[in-house]
Amino acid sequence: MHATSLQKFIHNSELIHPEMTDNDQNNKNSRRSFLKNAAAASFTIASADAIAFAGENPADKSNSKDEIPWYRRVTRWGQTNITEKDPAHYDIAWWRKHWKDTQTQGVIINAGGIVAYYPSKIPLHRQAQFLEGRDLFGDLCRAAHEEGLVVFARMDSNRAHEEFYKAHPDWFAIDGSGKPYKAGELYITCVNSPYYDEHIPSILKEVSNLYHPEGFTDNSWSGLGRDSICYCENCKRKFREKTGKEIPQGKNWDDPAYRQWIRWNYDRRLEIWDLNNRATKSAGGTNCIWSGMNSGSVSGQSKSFRDYPEICRRAEIIMLDSQARSDSDGFQQNSATGKLIHGLLGWEKLIPESMAMYQAGKPTFRLASKPVAEARMWMIEGMAGGIQPWWHYVGASHEDRRIYHTAGPVFQWHKTNEEFLINRTPVATVGVVWSQENMDFYGRDEADMLVELPWRGIIQALIRARIPYIPVHADHIDREAKNLSLLVLPNLGLITDRQVAAVKRFVEGGGGLLATGESSLYNKGGDRRPDFALSELFGAHAEKQPANAGKTARKWAAEASHTYLRLTPELRKNVDGPQTGLEPNISGIRHNVLKGFEETDILEFGGMLETIKTDSGVEVLMTYIPPFPIYPPETAWMREPKTDIPGLMLNTVSGGGRIAFMPADIDRQFGRYNLPDHGNLLANLIRWAAKDQIPLSVACAGLLDCNLYQQPGRLVLHLVNLTSAGTWRQPVDEYIPIGPAKVRVKLPEGVPGKKLQLLVSGQKISASVEKGWVHFTIDSISDHEVVVLT
Ligand SMILES: [Zn+2]
Repeated sequence: MHATSLQKFIHNSELIHPEMTDNDQNNKNSRRSFLKNAAAASFTIASADAIAFAGENPADKSNSKDEIPWYRRVTRWGQTNITEKDPAHYDIAWWRKHWKDTQTQGVIINAGGIVAYYPSKIPLHRQAQFLEGRDLFGDLCRAAHEEGLVVFARMDSNRAHEEFYKAHPDWFAIDGSGKPYKAGELYITCVNSPYYDEHIPSILKEVSNLYHPEGFTDNSWSGLGRDSICYCENCKRKFREKTGKEIPQGKNWDDPAYRQWIRWNYDRRLEIWDLNNRATKSAGGTNCIWSGMNSGSVSGQSKSFRDYPEICRRAEIIMLDSQARSDSDGFQQNSATGKLIHGLLGWEKLIPESMAMYQAGKPTFRLASKPVAEARMWMIEGMAGGIQPWWHYVGASHEDRRIYHTAGPVFQWHKTNEEFLINRTPVATVGVVWSQENMDFYGRDEADMLVELPWRGIIQALIRARIPYIPVHADHIDREAKNLSLLVLPNLGLITDRQVAAVKRFVEGGGGLLATGESSLYNKGGDRRPDFALSELFGAHAEKQPANAGKTARKWAAEASHTYLRLTPELRKNVDGPQTGLEPNISGIRHNVLKGFEETDILEFGGMLETIKTDSGVEVLMTYIPPFPIYPPETAWMREPKTDIPGLMLNTVSGGGRIAFMPADIDRQFGRYNLPDHGNLLANLIRWAAKDQIPLSVACAGLLDCNLYQQPGRLVLHLVNLTSAGTWRQPVDEYIPIGPAKVRVKLPEGVPGKKLQLLVSGQKISASVEKGWVHFTIDSISDHEVVVLT
C-alpha cells in the first residue's frame, strides 16, 4: 500500500488507547456484544455452527457429526503473550474491545508450564511472579468465551525453576559432565522423564476441567534440541532398551549410533504429541486437541526433532511460530512455508501463524512497534501461501500505542475476503522437491549450505520469473504428478529408493526434471552411493570417488571460488584471440536454454566441480573453468580456459520428459549472491524442461510473488509486490507501487474467465479470452492484489 493510503487506512480504523476504555461500562456491554458478535460471525464458512457455538462450551458439541470443528473454521487469531508482570494490571475490558476491533475469532492465552496464570493445585506448578492469587487465565478464558471466541490454552513445557529441579533432579536434562542443562536461571526438563509423562498431562487435565478451553498449544514442547545430548538416567535406560546401545558420546554423523539417536529423538517427540492429545481429549472431548507450535523453517524443525510429515499426519491444525522474515529469505519465505506445510497437511486444514506486531527479528525490541509496512507484508505473504493471520504482542500494555493499529486493517480485509483465501488448491506445474531426511542426514550440520541455499536459489528464480510452483515432499511425487510438468531437485542429495522410483515414473510419463549438484548421490541413511541413483535419467555418472569425496563436496559448498562456466558452442573463433565484440557468430547455434547470453562465451560461477562421465547422446552445454587468481589483477587470467568437465547437460529418455542436470551448483550460487545471470539461466532451464507448460505470465517491472489457486468455478491469483527499498534488508517502511502489469492466465475447464474482481484495489477492469487464456492489465499494485476470475 502506498504511504498515503496506508495512513488513511490507519485513521479509518478506530483509534484505541488503553486509557479510553472503562471496565464497568465494558462489562455491562459484554452480553450485548456477545449477541452482536454471534450474529456477526455468520459470515464464517460454518455460519450456523458459529452462532450456535458462540458462548457455549465447545466440548459439549464435540459429538455432533455435522459440526465443522472450531479448528477448521476459526481463521483470525490473536495473542497477548502474558509477561509475569501483567497480572497486576491486565485490562481485560480493553482487550475485549481489541479482539472485536480486529475481527479476531480465537485467542491464545498463557495458562501454564514454566509458570501458571491461574491458581493451580498441581505440585510445583509455580505461580507467575505477580499473579497474587488472581485467576488471570480463567478471567480471560471466560471473557473470550463470552465474546464468542475460541481459546487455545498456551503451555510452555520446556523448563522450570530451581525448586522444581531440587525436588526432581531426575526429571531434568543432564550434559556429558553430569551437570543440568540450563537456560538462564531455568533448568531444561528432559522429554524422557515423568515431567512429560505425568506432570504436563496433569496440568492439561486441570486446565481443561476448570476452564474448558477449546484446545491447547505449547510454545517449546519438544525439549532439548539436536545440539545438546541428554545423559540423564531416563534417557540412558530408554535408549539402551530401544537399541541395545549407549547414548553416543558426542556428535558424529558417521557413527550409526548417532543417527539412531537422531531417529529415536524424533520418535519420542511424536509420542509426546500423541500423549498430550490423549490427555486433552480425554479431559475436554474429541475436539479438544493439543497442537504444539512448529517452526516455519524445515531446518528449525530438524534441529528440534520435530518431524513435519509425521506431525502433519496427526495434526488437525498447525500452529506456526514464525514471526518475521530473515533478510536472506525475504517475505516470500512465508508464502513458500504456507504451501510447503499445506502440501503435508492438506489444503482443507488451517495454519494460523504468529505474526509479530513488535520489532521481531534483527534487531528485536519486544515493546516497540514494528514498522507497519514490514508487519503487513509478512502477513500478506503468509495469506498468499494459505496461512491465517494471528496478531502477536508481548505484554498486555504498551507505551508504544502504534502497535495496536497494525493488525486491524489487515484483519478487516481478511474478514471481507476470507472465502477466497481458504479452502483452495494451488495451480502450479512446477514442483520443488524436499524432504526432512535430506535436511537431517545429507545436510547434517551444514544444511544451510547444502540444502537451504540451493532451495532458496530455485525458489527465488521461480518467483523472479513469475512461475507458480509448489513445494513437493519427496514421498508425495506420485500424488502430485498428474498436475505437474516439472520436478526440481535442488541439490536433493538424499533420496530413498522409493522416491527414485517415483521420479523415474514421472519422467517416463513425460514429466520434466531439473536436478542440481549432488542430487540422488546419497542413500536413505545419508551415505554416499557409488553413482547417482538417477544416473540413467541424467545420462551422467559420478567418477569413482576417493574416500573423502563427501567431505570435499561439503568443503566446496561453503567456499567461494574464482571459477567460470564456458558456454558451448562458443560464439567466438577462439578464446585467446582479440575480443572486440565485433566478430561474427561463426561457431553455430546455441540451445534455447542459453538464450540471453549471446554476447558472452562464459558465465561467472563461483563453485567447484568434480569430473562427471556422460553417456552418449547427452548434450553438454556448459563446461567448467577451474579457479585462477583474483589478486593482484596482473594474475587474473585463465590458467586452463577449457576443460571437458560438464557443468550443465541435457538429456531425454525415449518417450519421456526433458532432463536438465547441473552438476554446477548454480542454484546455491543464486541463493547466495543473487546474480541475475544465474537466475535467468535457472528460469530458462525450468521453462525448457517444463516444455513451457506454465499457466501464468505477468509482464511488468518489479519483484512479484505470484500464487495461483483454484476453487470450484473460479481462479484466485494472489500477486504480492515485493519491490521496495527494503526487499533484502528489513524493515520495509513504505511500499513502491508497480504497474501496469499485463497478466495472462491459462483457464482450467469450468472457469470462463470473463469476469474479474480485484479484491484489494476494487478497480473495475475488463478481460479478453483467447485460446483458453485470459488477458488483462492491472494498472497499479501497491502491496498486493488478489484477482478472482470466474
Ligand atoms: Zn534425558
